Amino acid sequence: MKNNTSKSETKLETKLAHAGRDPANFHGFVNPPVVHASTVLYPDSQTLVTGSQKYSYARRGNPTTDSLEDALKEIEGAAGVKLANSGLNAISLAILSCVKAGDHILIADTAYGPTRHFADTVLPGLNVAVEYYDPSLGAGIKSLYKPNTTAVFTEAPGSLTFEMMDIPAVAATAHEIGATVLMDNTWASPLYCQPLSFGVDLSIQAGTKYIVGHSDAMLGTIAASEKAWDNLDKLHGAMGSHVAPDDVYLGLRGLRTLSVRLERHEKNTATVLNWLKDQPAVGALRYPALESDPGYEIWKRDFSGASGLCGFNFAKGTTEAQAHAFLDALTLFGLGYSWGGFESLAIPVRLKGMRSATPIDSDLHAIRLHIGLEDPEDLIKDLGQALDKAFK
Ligand SMILES: *Cc1c(COP(=O)(O)O)cnc(C)c1O
Repeated sequence: MKNNTSKSETKLETKLAHAGRDPANFHGFVNPPVVHASTVLYPDSQTLVTGSQKYSYARRGNPTTDSLEDALKEIEGAAGVKLANSGLNAISLAILSCVKAGDHILIADTAYGPTRHFADTVLPGLNVAVEYYDPSLGAGIKSLYKPNTTAVFTEAPGSLTFEMMDIPAVAATAHEIGATVLMDNTWASPLYCQPLSFGVDLSIQAGTKYIVGHSDAMLGTIAASEKAWDNLDKLHGAMGSHVAPDDVYLGLRGLRTLSVRLERHEKNTATVLNWLKDQPAVGALRYPALESDPGYEIWKRDFSGASGLCGFNFAKGTTEAQAHAFLDALTLFGLGYSWGGFESLAIPVRLKGMRSATPIDSDLHAIRLHIGLEDPEDLIKDLGQALDKAFK
């Protein structure tokens, strides 16, 4: 960066455009090269045996992975960043970097389903005790701490129920007992929420969603605080994780336009929800950026914006057949998992088996929507005709 603007003083949008790029290193080209590699050659045997050059072997990094890691390090204010080959891989690596046999981990009951699956099927075999907690506990989580609690996993909002949690309060109590605090921050992305700034040690992104942003690659990222970095770096190296350079590049490319995309997702979502709230077939909306939402105050305090993922319940008495008829009648909304791309999506919310600490009314039929970058009036028309068909 030229002039006297130091990088640390720049705003997030500016960092999204500039961080992790050094055109002077690559003959002036704006973007770094996509380095396809395994072997790295050394100039002589002395350099090889001492390992005294920047790159040693492509599994441990190359100029393309460095660029994305450096960008996120600056954006998230992290001591270091590691990439993973999916969001779930980022979650499992982050957890494994801070638990060992005999430890106890607390996981928010709202955690992403596959996070639960990892915790329930892998951790017990490593003799790590898993306990789920009510995300509304806040500092009250203290009562669940045991002498061997070493990690507290958080996520906000929950990606199916959109419940918020007071992560700064949880983090403060966790640090009193020396535990590592993890957060799945995929919903807001690092643009709208900066977890390391309020006490989170490992900030996790399913980069597959808003960072890649175009539904064309899988990616995970983990940004670590000073305290958590060393263990993450070692575990990541030991596990042999590596993300292919084309996918890393798609992540970098997506990052550059994250702010304009999220701004539009947020605006379109507000327009669509404002229409949905008045539809007779629709019950409660689920989106923490609505003043009517129980998580609104926390959202306003900890987040600087909202993304395109939201949900709603159908009115009481709606049948499963009606919910399915609604989904089947949609034409612009695709039916499919994942989200964060440019396109709108819908799925039925199925909570069976997904909660253990906090019971939830699973009779209420709910829908999760991802509001994409289409014209919101077209999305509203599509939702309207689908509601008409399902509730005729
Ligand atoms: C999709 C998702 C993940 C997992 O990401 P993948 O790249 O699909 O493995 C993790 N957390 C949340 C909240 C997600 O929505």
